[in-house]
Amino acid sequence: MPDRPDRQDRPHRPGAPGEHTRGVHLPAPPEPAQRPLGQAVWRSSAYAFTDSDEYAAVLGGEREGYAYARVANPGADGFAAAVAALEAGPRAQRGAADPVTGEAFTSGMAAITASMLALTGAGAHVVASREVYGGTYALLTGLLARFGVETTLVDTADTAAVEAAVRPGSTRVVYAETLANPTMSVPDLPALAEVAHRAGAVLVVDSTFASPVVCRPLALGVDLVVHSATKYLGGHSDATGGVVVGRPDLVAAVREVRVETGGVLAPDEAFLLRRGLATLVLRVDRQCRSALALATVLAAHPQVARVDHPGLPGSPYHERAARLFLAGEGGTRYGAVVTVTPHGGREAGQAFADRLCLASVATSLGGVHTVAGHVASTSHRQLDDEALADAGIAPAAVRISVGLEDPDDLVADVTAALADASAAAPGR
Ligand SMILES: *Cc1c(COP(=O)(O)O)cnc(C)c1O
Repeated sequence: MPDRPDRQDRPHRPGAPGEHTRGVHLPAPPEPAQRPLGQAVWRSSAYAFTDSDEYAAVLGGEREGYAYARVANPGADGFAAAVAALEAGPRAQRGAADPVTGEAFTSGMAAITASMLALTGAGAHVVASREVYGGTYALLTGLLARFGVETTLVDTADTAAVEAAVRPGSTRVVYAETLANPTMSVPDLPALAEVAHRAGAVLVVDSTFASPVVCRPLALGVDLVVHSATKYLGGHSDATGGVVVGRPDLVAAVREVRVETGGVLAPDEAFLLRRGLATLVLRVDRQCRSALALATVLAAHPQVARVDHPGLPGSPYHERAARLFLAGEGGTRYGAVVTVTPHGGREAGQAFADRLCLASVATSLGGVHTVAGHVASTSHRQLDDEALADAGIAPAAVRISVGLEDPDDLVADVTAALADASAAAPGR
């Protein structure tokens, strides 16, 4: 294939250009005629037009095309479209009756921030989960509060509590998480959608812990789904990103905020995250199976006071999760995070986490490696024992994000760590 000269669409002036001119106008790489099986990475921050009319038409949105990578770039669009297809599920094939679109962001928090800025304004009211992710909590109660948005925090797994908190006319957003951290509580999404819509609000759901392999909230009446793509979607702990998918009119409003505030996903991160998506179903299906196996062993373990995982028949959220989540082949898709509370206090939890060998003590979740964190001293360190109790979290709780290791190895590691921790502090 012949090389494509750099400015093939522009006429050449007569006469030989100088050294520097030739230096910056080198031949561009060829554009392959065949569809690449792997992904291309378009790192260009700007795109050239045939003339000023085309430039103006693309900027004005009358013509499709890319102008500037912060506004939109093919990598971010490709990743967002892929997540939208996964969240839409089989209905994507059924035609455009209820289309799902998406936009990609530089992080989960950038996606959540743009969504809330698009959907609220001064005087608006938000009802959100009291268990909401720490960054989202800070956004709602700090930054947005400063700009006149009021948030009421409730247990969103309790539909009646949400209903009591909404203010018809001023509540703009009901905000929940498909699976909340670290209690693994599951809100009744169809019921919340009804409550939100009756009040004239939209239902936004952070589905990071579930991923579209475990739950597709849009099919349950949710208007907008947000993800930290840093977790399961990417899956390899090597890229940071976020995505918003849902009703096209809402997604378009969120995109406007992103264009203005500059939080678009970068091309290289988009490449990694999009590559992760190819194995999403395989990874999450396997991680869910291993998590349920681990939770089942731990629930019967004498040194364990409590296990939070909706796949356990004893979980208060089991029936709801079974109704709302995708069963998968073995009926085992309840998420891949297990919260284990050994007997004892804070020290017992920390001692257990620190004696794990296969599982790393690390932040984040959803990757191929199993990671564990003592909740009270890490993700929820701002809460004292009383505040932890209010949130339904035991001081000894340890959150385990189950990876792709053999489940038998994970069970062996976790049970050995429990034994080691209790031998180090007998009678606790
Ligand atoms: C990690 C996380 C976020 C924030 O995502 P970032 O990519 O870190 O900005 C939001 N919600 C949940 C549930 C998360 O786990």
